[in-house]
Amino acid sequence: MPTFAPTATDTETHCPYCAFQCGIRLSAAETGVVVAGNPTFPVNKGALCIKGFTASDTLGHPDRLLTPLIRNGGGTLEPASWDAALDRIGSGIRAVQERHGPDAVGVFGGGSLTNEKAYLLGKFARVGLRTRNIDYNGRFCMSSAAGAAIKALGVDRGLPFPVEDIARADVIVLVGSNPAETMPPLMQYFQAQRAAGGTLIVVDPRRTLTAQGATLHLRLTPGTDAALANGLLHLLVKQGAVDLDFVRDRTEGFEQLRGVLATYWPERVEKITGVSEALLVSAVALLAKARRPMVLTARGAEQQAQGVNNVLAFINLALALGRRGQPFAGFGTITGQGNGQGGREHGQKADQLPGYRKIDDPAARAHMAAVWQIPEHEIPGPGRSAYELLDDLGRDGGVRALLLIGSNPVVSAPRALHVEERLRSLDLLVVADFFLSETASLADVVLPSAQWAEEEGTMTNLEGRVILRRRAAEVPDGVRSDLEIIHGIAERLGRGEHFAYESAGDVFGELRRATAGGVADYSGITYEKIEAQQGVFWPCPSLDHEGTPRLFTEHFATPSGRARFHPVRHASPAEEPDAEYPLYLTTGRVLAQYQSGTQTRRVERLAKLSPEPLVEINPAAARRAGVADGALVTLVSRRGTAIARARLTRDIREDTVFVPFHWGGPSSINRLTNPALDPTSRMPEFKVCAVRIEAPPVRQGALSA
Ligand code: SF4
Repeated sequence: MPTFAPTATDTETHCPYCAFQCGIRLSAAETGVVVAGNPTFPVNKGALCIKGFTASDTLGHPDRLLTPLIRNGGGTLEPASWDAALDRIGSGIRAVQERHGPDAVGVFGGGSLTNEKAYLLGKFARVGLRTRNIDYNGRFCMSSAAGAAIKALGVDRGLPFPVEDIARADVIVLVGSNPAETMPPLMQYFQAQRAAGGTLIVVDPRRTLTAQGATLHLRLTPGTDAALANGLLHLLVKQGAVDLDFVRDRTEGFEQLRGVLATYWPERVEKITGVSEALLVSAVALLAKARRPMVLTARGAEQQAQGVNNVLAFINLALALGRRGQPFAGFGTITGQGNGQGGREHGQKADQLPGYRKIDDPAARAHMAAVWQIPEHEIPGPGRSAYELLDDLGRDGGVRALLLIGSNPVVSAPRALHVEERLRSLDLLVVADFFLSETASLADVVLPSAQWAEEEGTMTNLEGRVILRRRAAEVPDGVRSDLEIIHGIAERLGRGEHFAYESAGDVFGELRRATAGGVADYSGITYEKIEAQQGVFWPCPSLDHEGTPRLFTEHFATPSGRARFHPVRHASPAEEPDAEYPLYLTTGRVLAQYQSGTQTRRVERLAKLSPEPLVEINPAAARRAGVADGALVTLVSRRGTAIARARLTRDIREDTVFVPFHWGGPSSINRLTNPALDPTSRMPEFKVCAVRIEAPPVRQGALSA
């Protein structure tokens, strides 16, 4: 069993989990490692949630992988030396590429990796493997928000302002987000906003903890977000409450939108969304008076096959309310994964080069070829998006060998049983992780990697603030960092000279050069500046630049400098309830678990709080299905089944059930979700599909089978 070996008595660093990236202090005490909130870090100001307080429990965990594993001829994973594991990977990749070409090897990354790792993984795919096929699990998280922000505002930075602005907004519309459970320290800003007389309108099919504290809760039918936004804007136009000066001076396209809005009269919107006309009118009355209005979206609206349009509809609302770019107003999106922001800026995406450059832009390619010291023609073109890459695994023309770092798609991908089947069909699956996740347990080679507190590197939080994660503990014997792992594989492929870095700081130095002049320009950011300023907001284009906490104060990042309205319409979800599958399924997170649960399910204090998935069912729907509170039920969609324990609550609509997605095996709810993709972002429709409940009996113990 590994022990926690601190590098210092106290280390100031950051929580390994969500995008709030709370500042923490790790201390070595006689009783073990103590985690406390860092009161001097200006984002969380000392507050932590239970996941942060227990974060160190993963460091010395007995499940920790401490040696590479190779699958033997009998199909069993058995311990191996690093040389044997890396040789196996090198020969496997060579064999696949010789037979099927460079694109037959793929890379799948994650939104929790540091900026340095995300950058290096993108470089490894293009320079080390020369494959176009790289994407990452952030595609399942932030891609719709990113797609909409780029279309409407010209740049994607989750919050284009510091979180403290939330406390100063007078009316906030919060769409598809439940920070009271998923990001509790963020709530201090909403609480300050309410204490100062502000109002909060929550849009969510569930009466979440956040919705319970709101001024108004608009409990819409899943998949009707764009109709709701259009309905609110219809009423604002009718009341003459649009900020016409702002629309004239700072935007374009409003006249085209007017025609679409005319068709979203309240009775029609009530019929589509299930939100009463009276509630719509009440919400608009609050918005019409707002002096500092703010609209925030999150996964509820974004993880849909209409995700980009949903976000565009809410950006339309924010733009029409005006005052965007002024302090304490505007539009933003609440990023989910720890490095959800930085992870999407530095080249892990199939169509992207570092600094948010496009891989099909000749100038961007020339710039990166110079940084990477390779001919421009060697940089491949765009590859497949995350689900499309997974869907094609093992097929002719698809990826035959996959390197996966920082992700667990067997639990987190939609239509998870199918994804598992595709992973099993690979010629070679290599997984680097610190626990044997559900995906790692399918691998041909497993590489034990270092954890958050054992490595240095930068993360970019939900505000676009680049922060420094300091190393607090020694890497256990037998374990290597992802930087070392990538270098080791590159060496086996004869490309080692491109990946010989001494430290994460060296990689960051190259990342700064790579992003210079790009949209997400980090060239003026150094580790020292991050420490001195408690983080640096990008863009930061020179060493004497302080960074950019607020975007859009003078102009937007579009070619015209104006924000763009988009005339979006409501479209039905890809799958709607019918006689066979009469309920909507929507999925999400709970307080004590995180993402695919690889880490948090192993933390005893968290597992006690949330040991198993609970399916929220309205008592009326439960009566119809013959389900009692606390019973195990089977949920069935066209793609699979999952078992969960019923929790009867009036906080969920009668036509909807909610299940968190943190568990694998028979209670993996992503076995049911629909991989219908948004046409722009390629985001799967995690938030809406049709299911039925099959009543008991389900045998006890089935959840852990
Ligand atoms: Fe903060 Fe998020 Fe960690 Fe909770 S999980 S302590 S909100 S960073």
